[in-house]
Amino acid sequence: MEIRNEIERLREELIGLRRDFHENPELGFQEFRTGKVVADYLEGLGLEVRRNVAKTGVVGLLRGKGPGRTIALRTDMDALPLSEATGLGFSSRNEGVMHACGHDGHLAMMLVAAKVLSGIKDELRGNVKFIFQPNEEDAGAEIMIGEGILENPTVDAAVGMHLWSPIQSGKIGIAKGPLMASSYYFKIIVHGRGGHGGAPHTTISPILSGIDMIKALQEMVLNETDPLKPTIISFGKVSAGTYPIIIPEKMEIEGSLRCLHKDTLQVQDRIREVVDGISRVHRTTFRLEFKCGNDLLYNNEEMTSLAEEIAEGIVGRENLITSDISVMLGEDFAEFSKRVPSTFIFLGTANQKKGTDYPHHHPKFNIDEDVLPIGVELLVKTAMEYLEEKSA
Ligand SMILES: [Zn+2]
Ligand SMILES: [Zn+2]
Repeated sequence: MEIRNEIERLREELIGLRRDFHENPELGFQEFRTGKVVADYLEGLGLEVRRNVAKTGVVGLLRGKGPGRTIALRTDMDALPLSEATGLGFSSRNEGVMHACGHDGHLAMMLVAAKVLSGIKDELRGNVKFIFQPNEEDAGAEIMIGEGILENPTVDAAVGMHLWSPIQSGKIGIAKGPLMASSYYFKIIVHGRGGHGGAPHTTISPILSGIDMIKALQEMVLNETDPLKPTIISFGKVSAGTYPIIIPEKMEIEGSLRCLHKDTLQVQDRIREVVDGISRVHRTTFRLEFKCGNDLLYNNEEMTSLAEEIAEGIVGRENLITSDISVMLGEDFAEFSKRVPSTFIFLGTANQKKGTDYPHHHPKFNIDEDVLPIGVELLVKTAMEYLEEKSA
């Protein structure tokens, strides 16, 4: 069967699925309808289906004819708390919730990929696991993995894809190494000794200490981190005090640390040292906490080469972008990529004429539906090639 023709034959269904998901967006861990549509569809294809993984997630297992390895294809399912302003005929019917990141397109591509691969299952050696993950925008992958989705059968490799409006329609961004940043939230609680603003010598100001910490941390990142290993520290929330003539007891500082490299723990250690040093100078005490948002998404060399070859066959070398596509945004596909050899691919969807070049999470964000068949072909052929190669 010629894969591309088969996908072309399913084009209307592909777009129909996308529009249905678009019209019925659901927030993270509330993807009940989405999960049901997905699970019913996969069952209809004859796959072994696990429902309600991490509450609303779904896993479908397609077993090939002979024994072999298992490749996982992963999509996200969640929408965002945003009021849609696209004016599309199939706009969100769920006011205040919108598919503004392209996950509606991801879902449709995965289902159609499952259909195409089911049609050729007798030619496959090994298995394909289709992972539909809830709550990507916050964190859903780790919970699914905790519920055993990488076992029975054990997943040997994983592929993820994101429709990507920073890239033009028809082009594919694919690159080895660090692709999307690790992201940590941090909170520093600085304790001093409160008192009268007219007698500051009898107090210990947590505000002065905290301000020095902010400046010192900013400078530390600028001065001490390798400019070729991107690192960002930013401060988003600071709070202290109630009244102009009261020196408060404490100050809270919250911010974000992002690294597009693997040395994030060293940076965290250094942050602790700097905060400790400043705190001593001011005679304050402190508590510092880091909370992981996302880990570094790192594209495995071998898996990325394989997908790159397939992508080249689909769109041509001139439409591949293989460098300078990394971003400091996070993506929780990282939870897969740190456990099994993986690759995460950007499928360009920007077309000015169609108005599909708005940034992700914008109320007018829309995708170019004409690229969906490209994504399906890429998923299908990457899975086929991986199973072929590994069973040969
Ligand atoms: Zn998003
Ligand atoms: Zn997204």
